[in-house]
Amino acid sequence: MFNGSVKWPTMADDLCIAITGTPGTGKTSICEYMGENGYAYYSVETLAEENGCLGEIDSEDDSAPVDIHELADKWQCEEAGVVFVDGHLSHLLDVEAIVVLRCNPKIIETRLSQRGYRDKKIVANMEWEMISGVWSEMLEFEIETPCLEVDSTEKTPQQICEEILDWIEEGCQSLNVEENATEAIDWLSTTS
Ligand code: ADP
Ligand code: MG
Repeated sequence: MFNGSVKWPTMADDLCIAITGTPGTGKTSICEYMGENGYAYYSVETLAEENGCLGEIDSEDDSAPVDIHELADKWQCEEAGVVFVDGHLSHLLDVEAIVVLRCNPKIIETRLSQRGYRDKKIVANMEWEMISGVWSEMLEFEIETPCLEVDSTEKTPQQICEEILDWIEEGCQSLNVEENATEAIDWLSTTS
């Protein structure tokens, strides 16, 4: 059932793991929790800044866009052990495994409005989550990296981290990207 062409890492390997997902799904909270428990983590923004892969500041949302493809060319994780990379574009980097955090779009709406995002940006992110945008992107780029999807909606950061660490310990078993995308959460059929 599992795709034999993918190399499954084990906990003993040096492992760089992307924590991706729509803004508001809880990526930074997960990485911080991992950090408190002794794991190294980076944010895509910091890596982009360090590697000269940030564009001009966009006056509309006051942030500099990351050139993720340039960063993917320039950056490789050189740190030993298990390392997490926090960012909604982290699945496009050179990593050994990918965790896709999902969250009910209604919760994302509340979180992003608390963050002070403009309505247009909130709606764009809710739609991205609604259409499983990360999975579409991984299909588009034919990313054949072991993936774990986690529905974070009703879980604490601790529960999510335990789920991720168990997955790593069990060898990051994964379907291939097409199968994962087919099986992915579909909020359009589950949201009332
Ligand atoms: P992201 O990095 O994906 O944009 P954050 O980690 O910044 O998301 O989380 C967005 C908001 O949601 C924060 O206010 C955070 O405290 C809250 N949050 C994150 N994860 C959870 C969770 N598992 N349960 C409850 N609240 C959470
Ligand atoms: Mg974040």
